[in-house]
Amino acid sequence: MAVVGSGRRGFSAVDAPDASIVSTCVHCGLCLNDCPTYRVLRVEMDSPRGRIQLIKAVQDGRLALDSPAFLNHTFQCLDCRGCETACPSGVKYGALIEAVRAQTVQAGLLPRRRRIAQAVLRVVFRRPRLLRLAARGLWLYQRLGLQTLVRRLGILRLAAPPLAEVEALAPPMSARFLQASDLRFVPAEGERRQRAAFVTGCVMSVAFAEAHRASLRVLARNGCEVHVPEHQGCCGALHVHGGDRATARELARRNIDAFDSSGGEAVVINSAGCGSMLKEYGELLADDPVYAERAHAFAARVRDLSEYLVEIGAAAPAGALRGRVVYQDACHLVHAQGVSRQPRDLIAAVPGVELVEMTNPTICCGAAGLYSVTDTAVSLAILEERLDAIEATGAATVVSANPGCLLHIRMGARRRGLQLEVLHLAEFLDRAYGAAPE
Ligand code: SF4
Ligand code: SF4
Repeated sequence: MAVVGSGRRGFSAVDAPDASIVSTCVHCGLCLNDCPTYRVLRVEMDSPRGRIQLIKAVQDGRLALDSPAFLNHTFQCLDCRGCETACPSGVKYGALIEAVRAQTVQAGLLPRRRRIAQAVLRVVFRRPRLLRLAARGLWLYQRLGLQTLVRRLGILRLAAPPLAEVEALAPPMSARFLQASDLRFVPAEGERRQRAAFVTGCVMSVAFAEAHRASLRVLARNGCEVHVPEHQGCCGALHVHGGDRATARELARRNIDAFDSSGGEAVVINSAGCGSMLKEYGELLADDPVYAERAHAFAARVRDLSEYLVEIGAAAPAGALRGRVVYQDACHLVHAQGVSRQPRDLIAAVPGVELVEMTNPTICCGAAGLYSVTDTAVSLAILEERLDAIEATGAATVVSANPGCLLHIRMGARRRGLQLEVLHLAEFLDRAYGAAPE
């Protein structure tokens, strides 16, 4: 049998793609139109069905792991999991593609840009102090206008191309961070009705600190006493998406330890991608003799902020906000966690708000973690379709619940010259709670 590609045949036993998931695919193609890469590229191998066929070919030894076709098409995938929602056979595609990424990392086959990104994630995101230090330096660099200057003149690209690639990953930093060590506890306003533990995470705490503060205010306003465990950190989602499962497992163990000793029944998180990762700690640590059971128990406590607010019967804000609002489903909220009704219900309950829908609201915006940096052209093509859909609604405000989506849509709106306000759900609700009644 002729094998395409020169390198290793088949997958290694550690973190191998599950053959039973591959065989669940009946090749019906019903997922194709829900796949953002297929929608813009129109290439079968850039569809879920095509990628599953490639994975099967490597599994069967017909295609080498290092074959360009396999690497290019599987890395072009956003891991958005839109195909999982569309698939009538229940193919768990996310688990497959994440295992493929782990295999490429094990075999040292990561493309250069992804290798750099993973190195940054491994070094900086495992050390909260180092992350804050880097974030503070970045904030100064952005605040003093150096970033604009450096990008405009292309200085880094000429002097140190790898550094330019790292710099391109950086989101705008918050002026005041919100870290677990500063704020261990937030009392409920009025009578305490609930107790929850809050996840500050990594990027959210330094780049979306205002969304964190808004989340805490909204929880407190709804009678929730919030605990913020000190020794928590990054959830490991970006590591898993990039194939670095060893680092993700280390981070998962740290978070389980931190939250096991925290007060609060539920573990509340306001970032969709991170929430999805926390809910999958059971699978990530399934073979860990010490943590497997604790990981499942921890995952069962995790709730997205919107999910939690609806669950505890949050009061609708009395304050009125005028205008048309469109909600952007974050992939890892709608597809990975099945949460789509709750944020809409919360937005629609705000007096004066007209909640409208865009066409195909559950299609990825193209952000997908680091995808917008590692695969910029495809990411921007996907974003264009989303921006068209948003613009057609006539909404002045876009609400979402994931940092990547917020940054990506803000950037796209700026490039198009759209007068759009792009807010985290917590900021939107917080504003409504603080607004004057109608
Ligand atoms: S995860 Fe997203 S990009 Fe990847 S195959 Fe599925 S729908 Fe397409
Ligand atoms: S992944 Fe599901 S929807 Fe897509 S081709 Fe396979 S069986 Fe059909």
